[in-house]
Amino acid sequence: MTARLPTTPSAPGVLRLVGATLVDGTGAAPLPDAEVELRDGVVVYAGPRRAPAPGVAVADLTGTWLLPGFIDTHVHLSMVPTAPEEQRARFPEEDVLEVAEVLRATLDAGVTTARDLDGLTPGYRNAVARGTVAGPRLHLAIAMLSPTGGHADPVRPNGSLPAWAVRPGMPAPGVVDTDDDVVRTVRTLLRTGADAIKVSTSGGVGSPTDDPDDVGITEEQVRLVVSLVGERGGRPVTAHALTDSAARSAVLGGASSIEHGYDLSDETIALMVERGTALVPTLSTLLRELDPATASAERLRHRAALHRRGIDSVRRAVAAGVPVALGTDAGVHPHGRNLAELARLVQVGLTPLEAVTAGTLQGARLLGLEARLGSVEAGKEADLVVSRVDPLVDIGALADAANVRAVLQSGRVVKDLNGLVPTAS
Ligand SMILES: [Zn+2]
Repeated sequence: MTARLPTTPSAPGVLRLVGATLVDGTGAAPLPDAEVELRDGVVVYAGPRRAPAPGVAVADLTGTWLLPGFIDTHVHLSMVPTAPEEQRARFPEEDVLEVAEVLRATLDAGVTTARDLDGLTPGYRNAVARGTVAGPRLHLAIAMLSPTGGHADPVRPNGSLPAWAVRPGMPAPGVVDTDDDVVRTVRTLLRTGADAIKVSTSGGVGSPTDDPDDVGITEEQVRLVVSLVGERGGRPVTAHALTDSAARSAVLGGASSIEHGYDLSDETIALMVERGTALVPTLSTLLRELDPATASAERLRHRAALHRRGIDSVRRAVAAGVPVALGTDAGVHPHGRNLAELARLVQVGLTPLEAVTAGTLQGARLLGLEARLGSVEAGKEADLVVSRVDPLVDIGALADAANVRAVLQSGRVVKDLNGLVPTAS
């Protein structure tokens, strides 16, 4: 598969980070008093602290924990909560600049790579790569595929479009019914620069005219999507799937991951283990609290039932050994608290160390970028997070961006609350 490494400007020179406890993302035990040497933005050494080298810039990170930059594999960075009236009155620049703020907040949270699964145009990816705007390296689905009236179809029953669905510079939403539609839409998305293809094999919550139990993209069409991307070097295909049959269609059709998966049967879980299909449970969105002041009693009841079913489904998948990657669906809920998902993952059975791996190396694998991202190892991009809390003791504390003291991307310091990291020499 030709996964493209989204670049970010790198820091030239040599820098040693010493004294921190290294949690490297591979699942290895933490290494106290570690040393990580960066050269031109790439890790060239990660291990026990060595004798000092004269003339090399050193950051003393004693008393902190050093982790890989996190990867959020499911975000919607262009989704910002705005009242419909206000949204209609906006100039496009207001939206663009607000997305820039969201990119910054996500980076400050410790996310150095993000996969946007509907909504963001490649213009943002290019701007981050160029260094025009600070943000996570971006992998994009651009738009998702569903049938007319399905999760990807924004049209209301009276034919009108909500303001959020008017997206200048974007190809049309991925509404597909026939196989010909699938072929044309997938090829258009690839031409526009998609790094992944997202399909909805079930209906959704929150789209205007569908229901989670609706059938979306069929197993045969998922297979068609996989074969189409195969003709162009391959890309991950991921499926929004809220029901068991939707997840099964996606797994059998060859999707590389399932988003949500709140109703998986043991049979589907066994198939996922057998095929190595990853699960991105987006627990931050499943477990978000609805406002009892505005949500109806029926909606609250329905939500409580979905919580129970979803947690049970994800717990069984984790226990069976399905690979899990961190994804939050940020945008559906506030941006900048992405690492709150780590504690949620511990709630469904991962150890804190496994949750860190789900948020780093597993995400890199899902994106096809594990050769360059996802762990602190020689040869990888120096995407790093400095935490002032021990993530293995209090993983919930990482939800608060104030505990993420510093963030590096390809060795470049993009956040440094305490001035911990000097310029490379
Ligand atoms: Zn989503």
